[in-house]
Amino acid sequence: MSASSEDTIVAIATPAGEGAIGIVRLSGADALHIASSHVSLSVPLQQVQNFHIRFGQLLLDGQPKDELLIFVARAPNSYTGEDTVEFQCHGSPVLLNGLVRSLIATGARQAEPGEFAKRAFLSGRIDLTQAEAVADLISAKTDFGLDSAFFQLRGGLKDRFVGLSEELRQTKTLIEAVLDFSEDVTVDPERVRRQLHQAMQLLSDQIESYRSGKLIRAGARVVLCGRPNVGKSSLMNVLLGENRAIVTATEGTTRDTIEETVEVGGVIINLIDTAGIRETGDEVEKEGTRRSGLAIEAADLVLVVCDQSTPPTIEDSTLLNSHPEAILVLNKHDLGEDASWSDPLVGRPSIRVSAITGEGMEGLRSRLRDELLQGEEINSEIITNERHFIALRQARHALERTLEAVDQGAPGEVVSFELDEGLSALALVIGETVAQDILDKIFSQFCIGK
Ligand code: GDP
Repeated sequence: MSASSEDTIVAIATPAGEGAIGIVRLSGADALHIASSHVSLSVPLQQVQNFHIRFGQLLLDGQPKDELLIFVARAPNSYTGEDTVEFQCHGSPVLLNGLVRSLIATGARQAEPGEFAKRAFLSGRIDLTQAEAVADLISAKTDFGLDSAFFQLRGGLKDRFVGLSEELRQTKTLIEAVLDFSEDVTVDPERVRRQLHQAMQLLSDQIESYRSGKLIRAGARVVLCGRPNVGKSSLMNVLLGENRAIVTATEGTTRDTIEETVEVGGVIINLIDTAGIRETGDEVEKEGTRRSGLAIEAADLVLVVCDQSTPPTIEDSTLLNSHPEAILVLNKHDLGEDASWSDPLVGRPSIRVSAITGEGMEGLRSRLRDELLQGEEINSEIITNERHFIALRQARHALERTLEAVDQGAPGEVVSFELDEGLSALALVIGETVAQDILDKIFSQFCIGK
């Protein structure tokens, strides 16, 4: 961030708009000094004890404007590790913006997105996984999302990776001890191998947990595709439980892709309704068809929707053939099934539903969940963040190379070098060595006031 980390920063910490309460947060070396001219309390602000809340009046330009509660925490025991003052006023945007403006005029600076959490990280109060957990906890969409963010926030992942790094450092010490004695000596393979296997197992468990972890945080992309009028929009609406997409009996009305998010048993599903797939001369519809092609390519799961009350068409067959892994959803069950849908040609996993009567919809929901989880159960102590997943995979690759080097009887330096690569990847996860631009990117995704 371009602005100095020495500045005292200020931001409204509560959501935009009117509310019962609005909180303005001030953090930095001058926080108490800057805040003191904005409050009238029964004791001077400087004398308010740490973690105590005081009742008083809020002053703007020396004039009382509201009643408030004020909270003080001093360095190094505050969230940011710096002196911090929090003003709890009534949630009036005019009042809160006026207070922020006045605090800025008195020497504070508007905080950048995520700057409070960034300061907490830079002061060493939390590691990077914990800082990231703040954003995850706030944006969690499900109970599982909350639990996994809280596990991370209280240092669950940090402890795991700090512990693993510690063990790998011991392995490295073992290798280097051998190096110190003689340059020709190769590493005692058995002990190093054992330790590496253990570390790789732990990494593999974490990496594999991302398959369900991803479903908790970012969610899976499930694309509904099929000919126009087979009932994709209707199915999407029933899955979402609300009238979201426009449903009409005229063909080709869903001209673009529509994306909505729904939770099914703890799994976040981003449902994407594609434009009706068919050959068309209409430019707008062509664009819709192109986009739906892209959506299908990026999907975790494809549902090919067909109308079971009429025989399969060439378009149905083409779609099914080009997506052999897709689930076939036979809609309009209430209208009866055309005999040709039981033809072995169709022979693939299918599910019969009716978007109109709701028949089979529960089965479709649980089928989606099962397909996405692939037999795994969700628990909260898992990897949910792609950044962690990528770094842990790098760490595991490095350990695989370390093991190879040991197996080939490579000199200690080589083994040690590969092991260092693994340690560096772990350091990235907890933010021990992460580059400034990556930090900026992570914290810029936070909103102001966090
Ligand atoms: P899309 O073009 O594939 O998105 O199809 P729509 O969802 O717009 O539905 C087209 C028409 O089929 C509408 O008139 C719906 O009411 C009707 N429809 C959708 N699902 C069903 C169903 O399960 N049973 C019956 N009888 N009609 C349905």
